Amino acid sequence: MGNSKKVLEIKKKKVPLKGMMDNVMEQFNHAADHIDLHPNIRKILSITNNEILVNFPVKMDNGDVEVFTGYRVQHNGALGPYKGGLRYHATVDLDAARALAMWMTWKTSLAGLPYGGAKGGIKIDPSLYSQSELERITRRFTYALADNIGPEHDIPAPDVNTNSQTMAWIADTYMSTRPPAQRSANQHVVTGKPDGSGGLEGRDRATGFGVYLTIKFWADKNNMDLNGKRFIVQGFGNVGYWASVFLEQDGAKLVGVQDASGSIHNQDGIDVEHLFNYTQEKGGAVANFPNSELIEKDAFFAIDCDICVPAALGNQITKDNASKIKAKLIAEGANGPTNVEGEKILLERGITIIPDILCNSGGVIGSYYEWLQNRSGEIWHLDEVMEKLRKKLKGSFDRVYNYSENEDVDLRTAAFCIAIQRIEKAYVQRGIFP
Ligand code: NAD
Repeated sequence: MGNSKKVLEIKKKKVPLKGMMDNVMEQFNHAADHIDLHPNIRKILSITNNEILVNFPVKMDNGDVEVFTGYRVQHNGALGPYKGGLRYHATVDLDAARALAMWMTWKTSLAGLPYGGAKGGIKIDPSLYSQSELERITRRFTYALADNIGPEHDIPAPDVNTNSQTMAWIADTYMSTRPPAQRSANQHVVTGKPDGSGGLEGRDRATGFGVYLTIKFWADKNNMDLNGKRFIVQGFGNVGYWASVFLEQDGAKLVGVQDASGSIHNQDGIDVEHLFNYTQEKGGAVANFPNSELIEKDAFFAIDCDICVPAALGNQITKDNASKIKAKLIAEGANGPTNVEGEKILLERGITIIPDILCNSGGVIGSYYEWLQNRSGEIWHLDEVMEKLRKKLKGSFDRVYNYSENEDVDLRTAAFCIAIQRIEKAYVQRGIFP
């Protein structure tokens, strides 16, 4: 009796980690206060427009039927059709989808794109399913979402554990369920498709390239040479891999990687292409890469380095590890990797954070180019795409950097202020129906 009471008391004292929704709302309110956002617009932007939850049955390889839960949350569409990724992960739920949808609204606005923000996915561990099961799950999810997505309404893209193959299945299913004469006009219902199926050359690397560019722009402003700088990457998927490729090309050295399989470390450097080839043979996992030491999960963020690139999930840098980080620069490849408490500690320690809505916006900018390409029946080339991306990101980066200097605020607050002001302007000009 005595003992169980003690356990209860201890449980009560444990403060739970705040969810991603708490984070994005604190970030939003902080910026809204700074720009003195009109209370009516604050009310509108504090809540999502639409939340779609679908339960749908899928036949498994062994003949059994499993029922899955999928989500699509559309936060705000004041600037254009909803845009945002689809994630297949056990952590997908309404709270996560809401937060990620909100971040998309700020990201598309900051980038100056004609899009709103959305996010969604399926609560699933995809490693437990065969490729043909994943195909049926994806197609049935697309069918369940029906007209809640559409090329001029809501345009999904890849995110954690989804890729160009997933997008090809969605596009094919969506197009197949349209009347014949409308099918090919609906190819841009998703972006991030394979390049043989309406995809854009360079969309695969767009997010990681953008992460690298924002690091480079920051380094140039601060007289830092990337050559010889050491970096660590959390998540060696699409974003983490491509960011590493471009950083390595500039002479920076990868010294630590953490993914779902484990954490590896080598101060002499980890060859990015060797590691990539290794992961291709090991189902995507970095653990036990020969030229490295396997370290404890908690030791990862404490690795001695100059730049840290979180490129996996949200809520990774918190009050529990922020004080251990050695890097001087954090480039948020992932969405919401730093929570508010973690950020406070980092800023007090003089560590700069390039915020997600700027740092990883190369992905949605690349998606916008793919959408334009499909809409106008054009085919763009890699060099052209990369140059357009560079110019667009330079514009965004300079706007955020200058705002932060002029208003004496951190880069995240600056990015949020710019993003929110653009949406505020749209509401002021259009008014509220009726
Ligand atoms: P991905 O599925 O290609 O890779 C995810 C990586 O994260 C994998 O290496 C996986 O092992 C790792 N991971 C998963 N759980 C982990 C854990 N608990 N600890 C450490 N590592 C873990 O996904 P991605 O497309 O590279 O997306 C990564 C992040 O970037 C996400 O936050 C996503 O929202 C964001 N993002 C992606 C894009 C894009 O274009 N793909 C665009 C903008 C932002």
